[in-house]
Amino acid sequence: MAVSSSLSAAGVRWDLSDLEPDADRATREIDELLVRARDFAERRRGTVGSAGPQALRELLDELDELTQDASRILFYATAREHTDATDPETNDLATLARDRAADLESALLFVELEWLALGDGEAEALLHAAELEPYAHRLRVAREEKPYVLPEGEEQALNARRPAISAWESLHGRELATLTVEFDGGDGPEPHTIDRLLSYIHHPDREVRLAALDVLFETLEGVADVQAACYDAIVGDRLSLDRLRGIPDTLWPTNQRNELAGDVVEAMMAAIEEHYTLGRRWFVRKAGVLGLDRLQLADQYAPIGSDRRVEWSEAISMVDDALREFAPRFSEIFHTCLDRGHVDAEPRPGKVGGAYCNSVSKTVFPYVLLNYTDQLRDVVTLAHEFGHAVHGALALERQTYRSYHTGLAIAEVPSTFAQLLAVERLIDHEEDTSTRIMLLADRAESAMASIFRQTMMARFEIRAYAIRGEGKALTNDRLSDMWFEENERYYGDSIELPAGYRLGWSYIPHFIHVRFYTYAYAFAHLVAFSLLARYREDPERFVPAYLEFLSSGASRPPQELLAPLGVDLRDPQTWAHAFAEFDRCVMEAEAGADDLQASG
Ligand SMILES: [Zn+2]
Repeated sequence: MAVSSSLSAAGVRWDLSDLEPDADRATREIDELLVRARDFAERRRGTVGSAGPQALRELLDELDELTQDASRILFYATAREHTDATDPETNDLATLARDRAADLESALLFVELEWLALGDGEAEALLHAAELEPYAHRLRVAREEKPYVLPEGEEQALNARRPAISAWESLHGRELATLTVEFDGGDGPEPHTIDRLLSYIHHPDREVRLAALDVLFETLEGVADVQAACYDAIVGDRLSLDRLRGIPDTLWPTNQRNELAGDVVEAMMAAIEEHYTLGRRWFVRKAGVLGLDRLQLADQYAPIGSDRRVEWSEAISMVDDALREFAPRFSEIFHTCLDRGHVDAEPRPGKVGGAYCNSVSKTVFPYVLLNYTDQLRDVVTLAHEFGHAVHGALALERQTYRSYHTGLAIAEVPSTFAQLLAVERLIDHEEDTSTRIMLLADRAESAMASIFRQTMMARFEIRAYAIRGEGKALTNDRLSDMWFEENERYYGDSIELPAGYRLGWSYIPHFIHVRFYTYAYAFAHLVAFSLLARYREDPERFVPAYLEFLSSGASRPPQELLAPLGVDLRDPQTWAHAFAEFDRCVMEAEAGADDLQASG
């Protein structure tokens, strides 16, 4: 990790005092919370369906308060762990928080179980009561699981074996996290983690890129059999639970969480696959720019044009301008978060990698974490995370805590939209032609990574579940064959895939943690493209409708949330509309490539 003092975001760290003053107080509050939860359970148990709509409303309000307090205190522990993993006090607090979180969950679980146990008639009567209106949609969605819930004793038995399954997940993660290999990225041979090796795909020196991927695949050879065994065990377990519960379709749990119908997801994926040629067209063009006959996999994200340094203060004003131009309210939220110390941007040892936003509760503004390394790409990340933050802040203002939190597919729409707004502004205002070309290429390639590549991954998973469902083991060989075939379907012969890339499936954490997780990114990017086009067509109509969409949180299904914005998920033309915008981005990148070649 870079030395923080040389980077412009040095010292930009979280102030966690809006969450908790210190660890002692947090520890006390966690214990008090558990007492409150148990008292709540004692008073309310057995009343969910029987005490009438007003009493249920009061119960849900009280539960909302409890879960928000839990969110605030538990995030205080997580936030400390993510920014100072070496502090012993932090580790004790995080351990305590994890234990108590599980206790809290079991103390409060009766509400969901009693709600599911109600007959359809009773539940419908409650759902129509005016008192329950703010909770109605979430309560209705929760009941979709009813046919697949087993009797309580069986659910408890299944829960009890949860740690045994988690062990496979941990093993998979640990195998990767502990892998280090000597590699020379230009500063002499040094131990490299998998993540660091992967970061060389953006390196300007081709030899370094190629060598980094060679070393990566060679290193994965040593763990691929174990990774396959982990995946086989996890998929096998999920499928047998599906059978026990009577879940008819392996995609159902993911689709249900995203509130998307299976045929909508399939239509989207099919439309994406039909457009793989758009990606190939760009890869062929890019090979020309790089002076190659054909791209190797390691050249896919090779920089073209030139990057430039962006100081943290400049990044703030760039993102601020993009947000304010769209809606002044966005800029207010951005500044409140910055002023209150809710942004941690400084990369430093002991801090987690990546970036995220946590919209903690109705009483606390969102917290954002990123690792700002003074590159243009980091500005885009900042905008992405603040797309999440404005969504969280606006939804929490209007919604209950239960009804603010959407599934991943919708959650990634506002962040991707904010990212696209920021990139467009960066491109429009960039004075250096070569940097502008870099931004154009990066925008097109980011879209390909989230739309094409994530869909390709979801297809790979669908095949893996189908094969495992036929009783065949998911061995290293079998997974490698399928992975390679799905990649060839995407890249065609536009990119040469090295034989070692057969093991590319083995380091993807999403496959292990949440099945078919990745299609949500494709969905969000396409929807964001479509929204951007709608915004351009009629900004005056679009902006208030978009703010309404954000404030609605998860109080309505995606179809109803997006329809007022001109995105009808049931209409196949929706995807064509999104691809027109995607195509425009690729054409602009191609025009940039022409300029670059004409000037060089
Ligand atoms: Zn995101």
